[in-house]
Order: sequence, then structure tokens, then C-alpha cells
Amino acid sequence: MGKYDYDVVIVGSGSNGLAAAIYLQSKGLKTIVVEKESMLGGATKTTELTLPGYKHDVGAAVLPMAYSSPFFQQLPLEDFGLEWIYPEIPFAQTLGNSNNFGAVACYQDIDKTAAQLGADESTYRKFMRTRIEDWPLVSNDILAPIKIPENPLQFLDFGRSAILSARTFTRLKFKTEESKVLFYGAAAHSTLPLNSTASASFGLVLMIMAHLNGWPFPKSGAGQIIEALAKYYIHVGGEVKVNSAIEDFNQIPNSKVQVFDLTPKQLLTIKSLPLSALYQKRLSNFKYGAGIFKMDWALRAPVPFKNKILRKAGTVHIGFSSSEIENSEKIVNQGKLPGTPYVLLVQPSVFDHSRTPDSGHTVWAYCHVPNGNTQDCTKIIESQIERAAPGFGKLILKRHLMNTRQLEEFDANLVGGDINGGKQDITQLFTRPVAKLSPYKTSNNNIYICSSSTPPGGGVHGMAGFNAAKQVLKDHF
Ligand SMILES: Cc1cc2nc3c(=O)[nH]c(=O)nc-3n(C[C@H](O)[C@H](O)[C@H](O)COP(=O)(O)OP(=O)(O)OC[C@H]3O[C@@H](n4cnc5c(N)ncnc54)[C@H](O)[C@@H]3O)c2cc1C
Repeated sequence: MGKYDYDVVIVGSGSNGLAAAIYLQSKGLKTIVVEKESMLGGATKTTELTLPGYKHDVGAAVLPMAYSSPFFQQLPLEDFGLEWIYPEIPFAQTLGNSNNFGAVACYQDIDKTAAQLGADESTYRKFMRTRIEDWPLVSNDILAPIKIPENPLQFLDFGRSAILSARTFTRLKFKTEESKVLFYGAAAHSTLPLNSTASASFGLVLMIMAHLNGWPFPKSGAGQIIEALAKYYIHVGGEVKVNSAIEDFNQIPNSKVQVFDLTPKQLLTIKSLPLSALYQKRLSNFKYGAGIFKMDWALRAPVPFKNKILRKAGTVHIGFSSSEIENSEKIVNQGKLPGTPYVLLVQPSVFDHSRTPDSGHTVWAYCHVPNGNTQDCTKIIESQIERAAPGFGKLILKRHLMNTRQLEEFDANLVGGDINGGKQDITQLFTRPVAKLSPYKTSNNNIYICSSSTPPGGGVHGMAGFNAAKQVLKDHF
């Protein structure tokens, strides 16, 4: 190794940082992960937020992208303690009719899902079957920066729908409110207004994941995937240093290459950063998206959803019509708080009894808020849940809240509460953080970025870390 203590230093231990570190260490390089916090994992951590023994996912909770990740699938994570739980229904959507107790489910089974969609039954079945058949042919291109597609026909076919706004896509494709609202619930994960270009891509990918593998999550909490990744990394010879915030470039251990699992904002605060003024200027133009207000509850019983479909779903999207969800996302992106927000709710303990030490339950939820907004959304979130589950409030043993500032204190990458490492609109979907042939490279040949601010963006999948690490290997070793 000569003059260097390490071949590569990875700054930040989120799922992308660990993925980059594992890949490079497995290729025989000497690597170390340097992490600011005392615990590894970034926005994927499970801790006791409410009562002793109650395990809550502070950040990510449901991991379909991790389960299907081409990189994570190569690793023997089950041998390092990872166990998957498959909720009976991957996700379900509330629906208002005479009361607010309607629901529609995205089952793993396409036919069963289509059977609820009335006049859209055969359209949905045909469309989704093609998407599932084509997925192995297009996924490599979707999970990477823009390049010439490996299978152009299938890619163009997918792209024709994905490039649309969720609103245009549902108007062109579906007739019934059931289909529209089900799709909107998945597409709204984008945190984009649903009339923005390419917002349909999120709905498509997430529904494909549901039909392919369900929406599984790790037993005992999402943090278990980090535990398994970290154990495997140590097993292959990697080193980890926690409680080490990098505030000055000179603090980084002596190394040939540095890979940052950071978003542009934190990278730019590092002193003596040897990046060109022009590149730093381009990074400073990077846009962040809407934030979230996150809540966790310890409950004495499961969420009392009136509709039994909702009781069987791991994830419940709350919003009582497609127009309510569309309006909620529009208002947030206009910088205001909606009165009836779209709420994402996860009820892991219904399927995973290791989450609590007794018969109680853990529930996780958030709504979107304008970036940096610190208003308390407890009331609007809990009222939305009450509409579908009257009596919810009476079951609360303890609640825990995080506004955008508290989220950023928990993980500096959550800038203004943005959980996707930057806005994922059409201008930043594939060309993040700046438009470059390899977006992982910076103006300095030895410095790389591997966070969710690079393609394919937010989510626990490790693909940004894996892609960046392949680039490092190709360029230097
Ligand atoms: C509330 C919430 C819910 C979510 N739900 C889901 C979900 O259900 N499913 C899903 O797939 N995804 C979900 N996500 C998104 C997912 O968690 C992120 O996309 C993912 O964590 C990104 O991984 P990363 O490695 O890019 O960055 P991060 O996980 O953010 O890791 C970055 C790391 O860098 C460290 N760091 C920052 N600055 C420094 C510094 N100067 N020096 C040293 N270290 C530093 C941080 O402490 C952190 O550990 C959610 C996120 C949140 C917050």
C-alpha cells in the first residue's frame, strides 16, 4: 500500500456507505468506514423510542428495495442474522365511501389485486404482468445512472409510463377510483406533487416490488439489515470508526481514495475540501425536496382499523381519495401544511412479535411537510388515522415525534427533513448530484460521492454505494 494507511476511506455508514465499503473490501482493498454517530446505519436504525423493550424504526421501516437489491442479493446476509418478515398484504390504501372504512389492497398476487379494480381489472392484470416479466430486463438500467439501455425495447416500454406524472398515468390508464387511489398511494412516496413529470415512476417501481416479493421488512427492525451488513463487512476484514464526524478534510485517515456517503450540503461544509470552485458551485445548486414529520407510537393493541384489509397490511397509505392525496402533496410542495395529509403508516408488530416485550404494538408513520418546516403535525396525523381506525387515540401508551430539525439532528443527511437525499424530480432523478457521465465522480479524481444524492436515489438498496464502488475500482485499482 506504500504511503497510504488505507486504499479507501468511506465517510458515513448508511446503507450506501456500507455497500461501497463491502464491495471494495471484498475486492481485496484495505478500507475503513468513518461515522459521525455512535451507531452505524444512518437513516436505517431500530431503537427504543417509547417504552423499554419496544423496538421502533427511527428511519426506514419497510425494505422492498433492499430485498430486491441486485447487490444485497449477492451477500450472505441471512448468515449474519438477517431474517425477513412478509406481511400478509404488502400495502393497502384507505378509501372513503359512505364512511371512511373502505380499502383496496395491493396483494402480491396480481389477479387478486386486479379483481378489486372493477372496470380496470383486465387492464391492470395485463399491464402489471408485462412489467413483472420485463423487470429483470430493465432493472439494471433503472438502478443506475443514465446509459444506453441493455434491453432498449423493454426499457422504452417501461419508460413510456414512468416518465409521466402519476396524474397523467392514472388518467390514461385507469377508470376506477380504486385503481387510481392505489397507484397514488405508492407514487406519493416520491414526495413530489403528483402532477410532476416522472412521479409515476415511483408508483410503478413500488408496485412491481409488491408483486414480485411483497414488501418485506427485517425481523426485529429495519436496523437488522445494517447489523448484518456491518457484521459481514467486519467478517471480510473491514474496519469501522464511530463517533468521528469529519469536519475538516485533514481529519480523514491517510488514504488514496475517499468516498462520501453524504449529501452535497454536508460535503460542502467540510473544511479544506479539495474540490474545484466550479464543482462546489454546481453542488450548491442541488435541490432538496419536501421533508417529513415522523411519529412512532407504543400501543396497547393493534391499530383498530375498521376494514380488515387494512389490519392485514404491513404498510397502510392513508388518504381517502385520489384527489385528497393529490391535494395533500400539492399543498406541501407549495410550502404549506395540508389539513388532511397523506399519511404512510407501518404496523410491523402485527407480523413480528419480537418488536415488543409484551402484548403491546409499535406503529410508525409520517406525513410530508415543506422542507425545514417544524410545526407539530401530531393532530393532523392522528386525525387521519382515526378516520379509518376510530379509537386509535385511546390505545396510545406513548408517542414519539420528530420534526425536520430533529430528523436532521438524528442523521445529518436528512437535510430539512428530506428523506431521499435530495429532490427526485426529472432534473435530478438520474443526474444527481450534478449532470456528469459518472455522477459518483467529483472534480477530484480521488473523491467520490455514494449517498442517495446519487443514482438511483432514496431508499435502502445500497445500489448508489455499489455503483460508486465499481467506479472507484475501475478508476484506481
Ligand atoms: C423516517 C424515514 C423513513 C424512511 N422509510 C424508508 C423505507 O421504509 N424504506 C426505504 O427503503 N427507505 C426509507 N427511507 C429512506 C432511507 O432511509 C434512505 O434513503 C437511506 O438511509 C439512504 O442511505 P444513505 O447511505 O445514502 O444515507 P444515510 O442512511 O442517511 O447515511 C448517511 C450517514 O452519513 C453520516 N454522516 C453525515 N455527515 C457525516 C460527517 N460529516 N462525518 C461522518 N459521518 C457523517 C450520517 O451520520 C449517516 O450515518 C426513510 C428515511 C427516513 C428518514
